[in-house]
Amino acid sequence: MAKESLECSFCGRKKPETNLLIAGLDAHICDRCIEQAHGIVAEESKQTKNEDLSSELVLKKPLEIKDFLDTYIIGQERTKKVMSVAVYNHYKRLLQPSSLEDEVEIQKSNIIMVGQTGTGKTLMAKTIAKMLNVPLAIVDATVLTEAGYVGEDVESILTRLLQAADYNLEKAERGIVFIDEIDKIARKSDNPSITRDVSGEGVQQGLLKLLEGTVVNVPPKGGRKHPDQKFIEVNTENILFIAGGAFDGIERAINKRLNMQSIGYSASKNEDRPDENNILQYIIPRDLKEFGLIPEIIGRLPVLTHMNPLDTEALRAILTEPKNAIIKQYEKLFKMDDVTLTVTDEALNYIVEKAIEYKLGARGLRSLCEAIFTDAMFELPSSDEKQLKVSRAYAEKKLSFDTIKKLKAVS
Ligand code: ADP
Repeated sequence: MAKESLECSFCGRKKPETNLLIAGLDAHICDRCIEQAHGIVAEESKQTKNEDLSSELVLKKPLEIKDFLDTYIIGQERTKKVMSVAVYNHYKRLLQPSSLEDEVEIQKSNIIMVGQTGTGKTLMAKTIAKMLNVPLAIVDATVLTEAGYVGEDVESILTRLLQAADYNLEKAERGIVFIDEIDKIARKSDNPSITRDVSGEGVQQGLLKLLEGTVVNVPPKGGRKHPDQKFIEVNTENILFIAGGAFDGIERAINKRLNMQSIGYSASKNEDRPDENNILQYIIPRDLKEFGLIPEIIGRLPVLTHMNPLDTEALRAILTEPKNAIIKQYEKLFKMDDVTLTVTDEALNYIVEKAIEYKLGARGLRSLCEAIFTDAMFELPSSDEKQLKVSRAYAEKKLSFDTIKKLKAVS
């Protein structure tokens, strides 16, 4: 066959009309068809990758999610229920193939949890990520500042998520970000013109775009953006954001609102009176606005839930009941040296008493146990003793007043 009469077997272009015509056994293919075919292959493999990721994602029904949370988290029933539904809806939205004909677009259900420190907010986010088998980044809002100021840009949040996903972009794009201490970036004053509020409203504005779902240029190793740095484009559309904060003093705003509401009708009826010991349970988005979160941020965190303060019973349960309860962890540590640990009920009650007396909270339980068990963990591995019985007297002896004072200072 004459050279000029050769043609692409796919599109029929003659050789002179192509830049390149490659010969196969019985056929030819031109450069344009190669490019097209390459596009199809890339698209296909992306789809299979997505399908693989979807099958990796362990999505359970809300009831099962709640059951899973129950094994790790004590109490907080309402929040566990709200979280189970929000997480289920989020991932349902994510697993649903997008169809152009369908006009109903399920929006993201980012979550905000309000509650004192040490009530299990971080634990809640960690447990959900563990259950779904997705990467989790925990970031502290206090280190974030508006671009151009000392501190971290909001994009650094996504750098952390990429790191948590071992730089697997698809995985990161379905991960969870827990933003702790979101209350610390509340607007400081009602008059923004007095000083630049670089760590308040500016950061909230920065966060907004991440929460809404957009493509962000992320410096893969973190740090400040600079012009000749390579960026990774991260789409935040399917990332679930969970924010948490103590919102110290927000009870005042809630109380004020509740009092205003009760004026004029049935305020005398006892059952209508708010529970003074747990005012946070009445929180509504408007209270967050009073506190200094901008309405746009509140709108992007549509699921609002609260954490209850932990009482004696909850603290006692935290010591022994969750799947990786603190005491179970010590039992395991001692078992590795063939030592059987038993802690009496009186000793456990004593630990809880001290945690409450010195306002150490759930986090303090761990430090108290550490102080009680350290001597034994130091001595027993080198001795023949195979039993450790911790009674109230033993715990009291190990927890001198000075030790507790020190624990209080660090908590
Ligand atoms: P927060 O994020 O609200 O400040 P964390 O989730 O970091 O609190 O809780 C600190 C520690 O206290 C956790 O690691 C966990 O051991 C314990 N803890 C707190 N609340 C609970 C809870 N409701 N159930 C079980 N453990 C809890």
